[in-house]
Parts: sequence; structure tokens; C-alpha cells
Amino acid sequence: MTEEKGAPAANMVEQFVGEGLSDRLQFLLTESSFGTWDLDIKNGGVVIDDRWAQMLGYESTELQPMSFEKFASLVHPDDLERTQSLVMQQFAGAQEPFDNTLRMQHKDGTWRFIRSRGRVTRFDTHGEPLLLTGINEDITDQRQRDLELLVSRQQLESAQRIAGIGSWFLDLKSDQVTWSDELYRMQGLDPQESPPPAATHSQLFDAESWSNLTEALALTGSEGTPYELELRMERNGKFYGWMLARGEAVRDADGNIVGIQGVALDITERKQTESHLQQRAAIDSLTGLGNRALMTQRIEQALATAARSQTLMGSLMIDLDHFKVINDTLGHAVGDSVLCEVANRLNDTTRGTDAVFRLGGDEFVVLLPGIKSAVTMEEVATRILNAFRTPIVADGHEIATTVSIGGSISDGSQSVSEVLRDIDTAMYSAKQQGRNQYSLFDDRQQLVLVERLALETNMREAVAKGQFIVYYQPIWNLYSNKVVGAEALLRWGQENGEILETRQFITVAEETGLMRELGAFSLREACRAGVTMVAHGLQQVHVNISSSQLMDSTFLDQLDSALADSGLEPTSLCLEVTESTLLRDLSIIRSNIFGIGDRGVHLALDDFGTGYAALSHLNDLPIDVLKLDRSVVRTAVRTNSDARVLTASLVLARALELTFIAEGIESEDQVRRLQELGCEIGQGQFLGAPVSAEEFLKLLS
Ligand code: C2E
Ligand code: MG
Ligand code: MG
Repeated sequence: MTEEKGAPAANMVEQFVGEGLSDRLQFLLTESSFGTWDLDIKNGGVVIDDRWAQMLGYESTELQPMSFEKFASLVHPDDLERTQSLVMQQFAGAQEPFDNTLRMQHKDGTWRFIRSRGRVTRFDTHGEPLLLTGINEDITDQRQRDLELLVSRQQLESAQRIAGIGSWFLDLKSDQVTWSDELYRMQGLDPQESPPPAATHSQLFDAESWSNLTEALALTGSEGTPYELELRMERNGKFYGWMLARGEAVRDADGNIVGIQGVALDITERKQTESHLQQRAAIDSLTGLGNRALMTQRIEQALATAARSQTLMGSLMIDLDHFKVINDTLGHAVGDSVLCEVANRLNDTTRGTDAVFRLGGDEFVVLLPGIKSAVTMEEVATRILNAFRTPIVADGHEIATTVSIGGSISDGSQSVSEVLRDIDTAMYSAKQQGRNQYSLFDDRQQLVLVERLALETNMREAVAKGQFIVYYQPIWNLYSNKVVGAEALLRWGQENGEILETRQFITVAEETGLMRELGAFSLREACRAGVTMVAHGLQQVHVNISSSQLMDSTFLDQLDSALADSGLEPTSLCLEVTESTLLRDLSIIRSNIFGIGDRGVHLALDDFGTGYAALSHLNDLPIDVLKLDRSVVRTAVRTNSDARVLTASLVLARALELTFIAEGIESEDQVRRLQELGCEIGQGQFLGAPVSAEEFLKLLS
């Protein structure tokens, strides 16, 4: 565009513009941020105002005279073609004004976003366009703001998607709800295609969740109370997932509640892990039985039911006898298999409604809801005891296991811990009465338990203070009236001078593991004292060995050093072992028993006639002596028929060439009867009570 061509055109345009603009319009334009321009269509001349020029950093004089070519040189190359074609469309008679955003270069070299709108405003008499008029607006800042808004909206959207958070707003005036895209997705709906949420809302949740939600919304709407709810989502009546919904009131400037806004979180996964964990947390991983936590819960429920329906709830605590020994000697893997088998047997012996739990270790609890009386409990307990008559086979070992059971009956008035305390007490009482039995709780047992605790503490102190001593009970030849042996018996000298017998503390000693220590002490002491006694004509000194000692792998070492330190001949020593010890078919016991025999030390089977006579053991094991239990001796004097066990035992002893000793002789009658029956050797109160080593030596001489 040349200046000659442009100038007259500009004049012509100025004339139109000047004529056409009212003062008012002129004012509005100058005060607004718009720049105006007019294009003379015939010659391409352009008139711009000051603001147009200022928008790009120029004074209008710097750009004048303006032409389309000059204009085009300021337009970003990428935007030029579009701009030109929009202008052409206007010339060609487009109906609507054009609205175009294009980039134009500022004087400082930067690109500005200019929104340009325009249309033909003058036509000649033939209807041909003469003048294109437009306004320009710098929208660079606005665009930047829009862009930032867009970015932040997108960020929010993607943050919602990543976090699984949906947001929504309820306009209380119009009752319209708007949901974020993520909220649609969370519900398994397409944000683009789904109906407005209000239409389907009630079908998205289960009945209970929906009623909770509407209640909460009403309260937030009226009182402004915020809420937090866990909702079960449904799709076509089927469980779809879990949603955590939070909502709070939105208020206007005057504090009136105008809406409710909230967020929703998909917590399906969390809920699933929770319930999974809950399930896992309630199960004992080894046996698959319910654990302590579950048991506590169930007892609580059962107590409540018992109280409400006026029925009785029974509970049993079952503890394996000597489980620690199995674990210690055969290892934990075998111990674990034993526990699993115990769980099986307990499950097999109880009804479907009864629940079996493992408390930990070797303690189990059976819950018997809705029982009629103590008789039912006893029946179950007996079934359980019977279930352990067959040994448990684990890892190739046959393990004879028994259990001790404590039971209690509740009408629902106790607490869980009281129930547990009671069955625990009853179970201890069953242990104390010799294990392998059932005991029903009564209040007196509580007292015994308290005494027992005191006993345990005292006993540990007594070991440290050296209050344990060994007494010797003479063993007589009933025909020659001579002392042939001495049985070492452990005694506890109290501070007040009282001397406690072994039976008064042996259960606690066994349970606390003190028996090994005390037994080893007896053995050493008896060997030492035995040397002197043998020198005074005694044949043998007898020492009792408990099963815990025999399950100790260092037992033979202890025996060797007791013999070596004292100088006692092995043949002058007789170790007494009870039948129940031998019944425990453990390899460690067998090897210790054979070790005893190998050393020439004699072995006596103690308390014979009380247990299941394991006659096979008499042949298998290196046993030299049978000691008939005092209960058999006692009945033998009453009638002839009662003497049959004694007579049979004598025959057996003779056949197997075993020495026979009758225990617990308490009267002259008994001595006479035993003599008649051909029993040669005996011991008991009547013949001589256990005495100290000095006293015993006096007896010998
Ligand atoms: P046991 O080996 O059968 O010992 C005999 C028990 O009967 C002893 O009880 C003894 O005092 C008691 N007794 C003796 N004569 C009579 C009598 O005429 N009538 C009655 N009713 N009882 C009589 P004690 O000392 O209380 O020992 C109980 C059990 O403790 C023993 O039974 C034995 O198995 C164990 N024991 C005793 N001392 C030791 C020891 O030093 N080491 C080990 N491992 N066990 C021991
Ligand atoms: Mg004995
Ligand atoms: Mg005995």
C-alpha cells in the first residue's frame, strides 16, 4: 500500500467515522480498553485509533499511515491466513461479524493475543461493501488467567482421579447436584453420557446407606452439621464398592446455608483389606481355630445371650499335660503338629454350636452355649479326655498325650475375664489332682491358687537359701528284720522348723521347672550320703527320678558325676521311676533308661499297680525292682479277693526275676499279711518314717 493511495482513502473513512460517531459512543470507546479500526475495502487503507496502536506499544503516529500490508506484517505468520480469510468472508457478505483471536507483535518483540471483531458497516448504492469496521482487545492477560484456570482444573481433575476422590456440590435453591468427573467414574458411570446425578442417586446405594445419606444431608442443610459416612454402593441391586462421603454446608455472605459441598472417596480396597485383616486377626494361623481375640468376642456374646434368655453358658479350658517337654525334646515342629492334632480332636469331640479356640501355647478353650446343666459339661469333658487315649503320631513319634480340663458354668452375670479366671483355676486344680482329668470350678479353688502362687515364690527363695534337704526312709527285709535299703525323699525345711514332704510341693516344682534342679540335688546328696550308709552295711540307696529329669539330655552326665564325685558303686544305687514316666514313649526317656542300665545302676518301677500296667516295659526295659504302690498294699489286707492284684504282682516279679518291694506299710496287720503272701521286702510309716541322714545312720548301727 502506497502513501498516495492510502491518504485519500483515510480521509474518506475519517469523514464517515467522524460523522457517524455520537459523542457518547466516542466517550465509551476511549474509556474502554478497545482499540478501533476501519478498513477501506476499495483501496486497503486502514484507520486506527490511539488505543489500537498503544495495545502494541506504539504511538498511533508511529504506525500511520496504516495499510493492510503493514497490519499483516504485525500478525503472527501462523494466524495471518485465517485472519485474511475471515476478512474476505465479510467482503463476500457473511451474516455474522467475525470474531478472531490472533497474535500480534508488540513493539518490545513479544506476542500479544488480540481479540478482533469486525463487520462491514458501509455499502455503496449497489450494495457493494465499502467499509469494514472493527474493535481490537488485548486478551493476553485474560488468556493467561484462563489457561492457568484450565491447568489448575485439569490438575484438580487428575488429582481427583489419582486419589480416587470425587467432589460434588448441591445447590439447595435449585436442588441441582453437580458431580466431578471422578465421582461419576467412581460410580462406574461415564461422566459424558450419564444422566444428572439427582435422577439416579437413590439407586446408587443400598437402602441403609441411602437412608443414612438423606438423613445426613437434611441435617447439614438445616443445621449445618458436617457429616462423614461410609456408604455401600450398589449397581442393579448388587454390591459395587464402598464410598466414604464427607459433606459440609456452604453459606452465603449473610451466613445462610445455600448449598452442601463434599468429597467422596472410593474405600472399597481399604474395606476389603480391613475385613481380610479382621478375619486373619481372628484366626490362629497354626491350627485354624479362632484365637483369643475371637474367643473374647464370642464369650461376650454368649454371656449376653445367657443373661437375656436365662440359659447357661459353659466353658472349658483344656491344657496339654507336659507339652513343654514335647517341645523341648522333640522340637517345635513336632510340637506344632501335636497342637494341630489336638485342635482336630477337640473339633471332633464338640458339637457344631460349640466353638473351639486356641488361647496360645498349649491352651485351648471350648465354649458351650445354651447347656442344660453341669452334666453336659462333664460329658463333653469326658469325651475330650477319651479322645486323648490314643497317642498322637507326629513326625514318626508316638506321643502319649493327656490333657487337664477346667470347666465353669455361667448364667451370664460374669465378665469375660472372670470366666477365664475361673476355668483357669479349675484347670490348675485338675493338674494338681494328678492331670489327665476334669475339674469343675468352685470358689475354694481360687484360694488354693493364691496359696500356690505364694508357694512358688517361696520355693525359689528356699532353693537359694539351701532349705531343701534329703531324708531317708528305711527299706526292710520283712523276714530278717534288717534294713536293706534307704529311699531318699526330698524335704523342705521351713523357717518355722516345719518340714514339708515332697507331695506338698512337687506339683508346683514340676510346673515351674524347679524339679530338675531339685531332683539333681537329691541325686548328688543321696549318692554322697549313700557311700557312708553302704559302709555301714546298707545294700542300696534309692533315689526317685521324675519324668522331667529323664527328659533332660544331660541326665546321664549328672548321674555320672554324682557317682564319680561320691565314689558310690553304681550297683549300690537304685533309681525309681514311675509307670507314667515310662508310658511317655519318648526316645530321650528310653535312651536315658538304657543309659542307667548300662552303668549297672538298678532301676525300680515305682507306684506299680496304679496306672495302666505296661507289662511290655517290664520285659523291654532294664528294670530290676517292682515297687508295689501303697494303695494295693492297703486293700490287700482287707479281704482275700483284694489280695489278688498283690499276689499276681508277686508272681510276675518272680517270673521276671525282679526284686519286689511293698510300699506304705502302716500297720502290723499289713506286715503279717505281706509275710504270709510271700512278700519279702517293704517300707512304710509303721516300719520307719523318713529321717535325716544322721538319724538313718543311727538306725543302721
Ligand atoms: P514315692 O517314691 O512313692 O515315695 C513314697 C512316698 O510315700 C513319700 O512321700 C513318703 O513320705 C510316703 N510314705 C512313706 N511311707 C508311707 C506310709 O506308710 N504311708 C503313706 N501314706 N505314705 C508313706 P513324699 O516324700 O511326699 O514323696 C512323694 C513323691 O515325690 C515320691 O513318691 C516320689 O515320687 C517324689 N519324690 C520324693 N523325693 C523325690 C526326689 O528327691 N526326687 C524326685 N525326682 N522325686 C521325689
Ligand atoms: Mg519312690
Ligand atoms: Mg511310690
